[in-house]
Amino acid sequence: TSHATQIIDPSLAGEVATILARCGVEVAAFSEGELAVRSPISGETLARVKTVDATTASEAIESAHSAFLEWRLVPAPKRGELIRLLGEELRAAKGDLGRLVSIEVGKITSEGLGEVQEMIDICDFAVGLSRQLYGLTIATERAEHRMMETWHPLGVTGIISAFNFPVAVWSWNAALALVCGNSIVWKPSEKTPLSALAAQALLNRAVKRFQREGGSVPEGLACILIGTRDIGAVLVDHPKVPLISATGSTAMGRAVGPRVASRFGRSILELGGNNAAIVTATADLSLTLRGIAFAAMGTAGQRCTSLRRLFVHDSVYDSFIARLKKAYASVSVGNPLESGNLIGPLVDKAAFDAHQAALSETKAAGGKVFGGERVDAGFGNNAYYVRPALVEMPKQTGSVEKETFAPILYVIRYSDFDEALRLHNGVPQGLSSSIFTNDLREAETFLSARGSDCGIANVNIGPSGAEIGGAFGGEKETGGGRESGSDAWKAYMRRATNTINYGRSLPLAQGVTFEI
Ligand code: NAD
Repeated sequence: TSHATQIIDPSLAGEVATILARCGVEVAAFSEGELAVRSPISGETLARVKTVDATTASEAIESAHSAFLEWRLVPAPKRGELIRLLGEELRAAKGDLGRLVSIEVGKITSEGLGEVQEMIDICDFAVGLSRQLYGLTIATERAEHRMMETWHPLGVTGIISAFNFPVAVWSWNAALALVCGNSIVWKPSEKTPLSALAAQALLNRAVKRFQREGGSVPEGLACILIGTRDIGAVLVDHPKVPLISATGSTAMGRAVGPRVASRFGRSILELGGNNAAIVTATADLSLTLRGIAFAAMGTAGQRCTSLRRLFVHDSVYDSFIARLKKAYASVSVGNPLESGNLIGPLVDKAAFDAHQAALSETKAAGGKVFGGERVDAGFGNNAYYVRPALVEMPKQTGSVEKETFAPILYVIRYSDFDEALRLHNGVPQGLSSSIFTNDLREAETFLSARGSDCGIANVNIGPSGAEIGGAFGGEKETGGGRESGSDAWKAYMRRATNTINYGRSLPLAQGVTFEI
């Protein structure tokens, strides 16, 4: 119904230019620059953007620090009003921004729109949160004393984000950080700067409306630094950035985590996953099939929560794998902007090479590969489409233990539940997990202390597609960070414990006496 979905220029580059202009991005920001942005859909160049140098990045951080000193004094519910306005801008631009995400990342249309819906949802959550930054009142052992906790704004929040959720991850961090009283500096993925420019422009629009309402927003409160990992490193090393929230590969986290820690900064690390599901003898197989198809093939396997390993009980293995193969064979791979296609392209050649390497490795390890061929979607050699692959593995070795960011599902047969659990937890990553069962004991065991070791554990739902209300993140090499809902906001604030003596004497804790 809106003009947002209408193609004005037949080329993707033209359509992108129109969308960016409508979102309020200046033409110069995407028409000249040293960084070429390509669409995975066709391989064509969409735009050229300017990158910043290290000096400009440091200046932006200094300015964000000054902005923080003022923003922290604005009452939290008033800060929430800015995020309420951001939510309104995102609602108005949902069609445009969703389409841009689809074009820049290669997601199917409903997933591009879903990403923007997630941004709207976190804004709503953050607006409510802005009136709920609660501290505790704690019983004290001393008479006529009161003890409490106060949560204070922390400082500049550095956000480093990955290509596959180019704007949702920013919004999880931005919405919470801003209501918590922090300023934000964002280093988006160098593969997806256009969606980032659009999201930043929508925030700028919300800022203008906030100012028209009489709100004051200090210069430099929220900015974007387009660049490669070197610019990310400026954020990582800067002493005026007390919190780095970094989303990406485990290799990135391994570089970033220790550097932030060495200056006693805090980090929220949201790294790679190697997510698994267990299909037990009592599973509802039709529901399971749908859950697994979306989690394993959706987004062409390019979600951190994509399903990559599947343990299937012996008694249902043959019939279930036959059904799964049918689904794999029938799913349509192609232009993600055309309805009917469920699998779009891999992001680039490096992703395709990693996909090929993983499949060769599994073949050498005795894996039986079904699917996985390159598909010609009519865009020539610079676009990388593959059929999703199902690989029956004799055991969990080699590439099964790694995250390959592509639609490859490794399937392993099991007969003993405890053995399936052991294999499930037997990889270095710990993001998301599922069990499909109608057996209460198995379901509860999976969720118990000796069950799944992941940050997310589901029953009769696939591992991907989390809601914003829960805390999101994982254990082990996934980095341990939590973002989004529940009490994840606490990572964006500093806690002060306050004890107040309203009496006339000075009793010391633990009964210590010190008479002078
Ligand atoms: P990536 O690690 O290549 O890049 C992510 C971001 O980190 C980019 O902005 C990049 O420029 C920056 N970066 C890389 N090395 C850096 C360094 N040494 N210092 C500072 N910045 C650096 O990841 P990607 O290919 O864009 O995304 C895919 C990966 O992200 C997958 O592993 C996926 O599982 C993971 N991911 C995790 C989550 C999560 O919430 N756990 C969400 C989305 C994606």
